[in-house]
Amino acid sequence: MIIDKAEVIVTSPDRNFVTLRLTTDDGLVGLGDATLNGRELAVVAYLTEHVVPLLIGSDAARIEDTWQFLYRSAYWRRGPVTMAASAAVDMALWDIKGKAAGMPVYQLLGGASRTGLLAYGHASGKTNSELFDSVRMHLEHGYRAMRIQTGVPGLKAIYGIASQAQGMADAETRYDHEPARRGNKPTEEDWDTRAYLTHLPGVFEAVRNEFGPDLPLLHDGHHRMTPIQAAKLGKALEPYDLFWLEDCTPAENQEALRLVRQHTTTPLAIGEIFNTVWDFKDLIRDQLIDYVRGAVTHMGGITPLKKTLEYAAQYQIKSGMHGPTDISPVGMAAAMHLGLAIHNFGIQEYMPHGDRTNRVFEQTFTWEGGYLHPGNEPGLGVSLNVDEAGKYPYEQAYLPYNRLADGTVHDW
Ligand SMILES: [Mg+2]
Repeated sequence: MIIDKAEVIVTSPDRNFVTLRLTTDDGLVGLGDATLNGRELAVVAYLTEHVVPLLIGSDAARIEDTWQFLYRSAYWRRGPVTMAASAAVDMALWDIKGKAAGMPVYQLLGGASRTGLLAYGHASGKTNSELFDSVRMHLEHGYRAMRIQTGVPGLKAIYGIASQAQGMADAETRYDHEPARRGNKPTEEDWDTRAYLTHLPGVFEAVRNEFGPDLPLLHDGHHRMTPIQAAKLGKALEPYDLFWLEDCTPAENQEALRLVRQHTTTPLAIGEIFNTVWDFKDLIRDQLIDYVRGAVTHMGGITPLKKTLEYAAQYQIKSGMHGPTDISPVGMAAAMHLGLAIHNFGIQEYMPHGDRTNRVFEQTFTWEGGYLHPGNEPGLGVSLNVDEAGKYPYEQAYLPYNRLADGTVHDW
């Protein structure tokens, strides 16, 4: 199992994806997701210029050693570009090992700890009535848990709200709320934390009144609050029994979570932009969070994220892996295999990819009764249709950013 070909493939069916494809001398092919939303080409360069030359001629069976080599031999380690590149290599090697063994990757990780992965969808609406329609539509599609994002009176565009009526059956159109927009600059959105904090508890009250107490509800604060604002929101949402409040403060300041924790029993999830176990270490050890949001694609691969989640398990902290559409089908498959195998699985974010993406990436996962399963094909269960991928060249696209009413740039 010597790696004799390593290709970096960029395709943009519904959005940009970066995929590493490794081929061994005995003909096995492994895929890895290296997509870093809005900074895709930086990872392409990192892989092409600095990683691919190191892989050619190396032993595809040595997953741990390869990860340690890429992490430590670079000297300049960590960071989203580096770790997305390492993640792609790691995923591709697990894919190859699964194919060599004739087993799905979850079997190599210890076997299934459950029959399926509870997943949450993204219900959203500018108004309560649009939001209720979205919740009903997700219930019809089988979702058993839902993230609730809503418009705020006075604000125009806002994170997490569908830019057009949702149509999951019609995925050729822009589905749900993929926030990255094509173009050479990020679009500007507006934000007002005070208006948001005043409005949000009433929305959750209305959702509970309409749909009852049993449906697990989640909410994403998307890094926008100060610690004391986040504490206030967590407390205000306690009557509505959230499954979690996500990214309530900017993740860089981990001390902030200590203050939030002192004031609320609303469970906290954080870490979708984290890259290594070091970003989670204090939050896990001091039990300041309840769910680890790290994604396989951005945490350096299956190998390091499994270790992080096993560390979290000692503190009864569970997984809640990031799963928007900028995690490619390869990254999602890796998350599903890992989630199926670990003991402390919590929930999986699930935002379906569009039809074009699903033609480029042929997949074996199933979605049944609110649960995901990666399937039982050897490896990760995803193959790349190169002809389809070639139809969609890279197009520049960026996530939006925020300004307050007085023009100040704010966290998006
Ligand atoms: Mg989030």
